[in-house]
Amino acid sequence: MKSNLHHILPRSGVLRSHSTYYKPQIKTFSGTPWRYIRTTGMSDKELSAIRIDRDRLWKDLHTTCEWGKGERWGENATDIGMSRLASSDADKQARDWFVKTTQDLGCDVNVDAMGNIFAVRPGMDNSAPPTYAGSHMDTQPTGGRYDGILGVHAGIEALKTMKDNDMETEYPTGVINWTNEEGARFPISMISSGVWAGAIPLEKAYNLREVGSGNATQKSELERIGYLGPLEANHKANPIAAHFELHIEQGPILEASGGKIGAVEGVQAYKWHTITVNGRDCHTGTTDFQNRSDAMLTAAKLILHSHNRASEAGCLASTGILTLKPGSTNTVPGVVQFSLDIRSKEDAALLQLEETLKSEFSKIAQGEEIGGLNARGTKGRGCTVKWQLDTDSPATTFHEDCIKCVEESVSDMLGTSEGPNVQRMTSGAGHDSVYTARRAPTSMIFVPCRDGISHNPAEYCSQEDCGNGAQVLLGAMLRYDRLRASRKT
Ligand SMILES: [Zn+2]
Repeated sequence: MKSNLHHILPRSGVLRSHSTYYKPQIKTFSGTPWRYIRTTGMSDKELSAIRIDRDRLWKDLHTTCEWGKGERWGENATDIGMSRLASSDADKQARDWFVKTTQDLGCDVNVDAMGNIFAVRPGMDNSAPPTYAGSHMDTQPTGGRYDGILGVHAGIEALKTMKDNDMETEYPTGVINWTNEEGARFPISMISSGVWAGAIPLEKAYNLREVGSGNATQKSELERIGYLGPLEANHKANPIAAHFELHIEQGPILEASGGKIGAVEGVQAYKWHTITVNGRDCHTGTTDFQNRSDAMLTAAKLILHSHNRASEAGCLASTGILTLKPGSTNTVPGVVQFSLDIRSKEDAALLQLEETLKSEFSKIAQGEEIGGLNARGTKGRGCTVKWQLDTDSPATTFHEDCIKCVEESVSDMLGTSEGPNVQRMTSGAGHDSVYTARRAPTSMIFVPCRDGISHNPAEYCSQEDCGNGAQVLLGAMLRYDRLRASRKT
């Protein structure tokens, strides 16, 4: 069949019965070969001419943001944040919209045991897994309208555009809504893609209780809203061929450089520790400096030292939790605990930083002079330091084939894949793509968000940037489909 005939033959001669097309199971389109255009029959130029409907994307996104509205932060109609916690009533409304919209597009829609929704638009060969766009529709309690939501909507817009253009992909294409990515209500982030990837046990996920005083579990709430699906939540039972995720950057890099698109190469490694500094409680008025084991003063030095060493190594180090005992103005604290979150693009650099800090923290706590931290002041009796590893997330490297499809798609849109408009970058935050990358070729597309702000009602991505991201997502999916066909995978 010659799909390029699409351009010269009348489109009206084909009559596909909707009753065939809309059946909720996978069907091929190929009964009418000369109307539908195949990705393998398209030149690069033809591929780049397929455009999403930017107004429709914008309208759809703000329509679903009516469910789970949060705090108003500005004057415009859409200057309202989101508070759509996973498996809440508002989440159910957004899910129902997702299911209806994708079914109306002719998708086969399935829900797995973690409530992940997979909508699949059939291709020519439906014996192979789909090429997916995926992200999440749940938000933080004081979140915005773009984190996750944009990625899901852009995936749906990509499928709508394929339909508008009578496109027939070689393999199925689809969109995924992952459950509880934020980990805001059930406190493990990316938990459902984690279960799918085999990294988190299903029972652990099911038994997770909601944050706060309620008794609901992830399982009971999925059941309540009707999204505890029959499909096994497992990459073997429900494989995916590739995963593309459009997301707002959630950082300031693109905005600062004037870049339009980030072609994300991977996600940085991170480790979370709890550090305990043990000293001795004593009276602040009667104990001179030489005779103190001041756990708080020591912790302050260690936190500063982690920052200095991380800076030298091109890594990140942050403390977000600090507790001290006994917590009295006139008692020198004997015990201090603090969190230490360290991050790097590379596992080896992270390990090096961790080892350096482990060795030097103890020495600094004993009063040894390192990095100027004990150069001044009065030496005391010293403290001891204990480390506890809470989370270890290795670096994720995305698949070069997927990254290339993204870059080529940027080139389709902008005329070039080089220059300041597009840049390769590493994600500082975790995403569902971290887990899909363990089981399938994956990459992400970043678009700028204002002031790099997210997890905040005022999170904002312009209509232009939303549209750019969705356009690149569509192009990457189509190009990947063509690539698969050329390799027969
Ligand atoms: Zn997100």
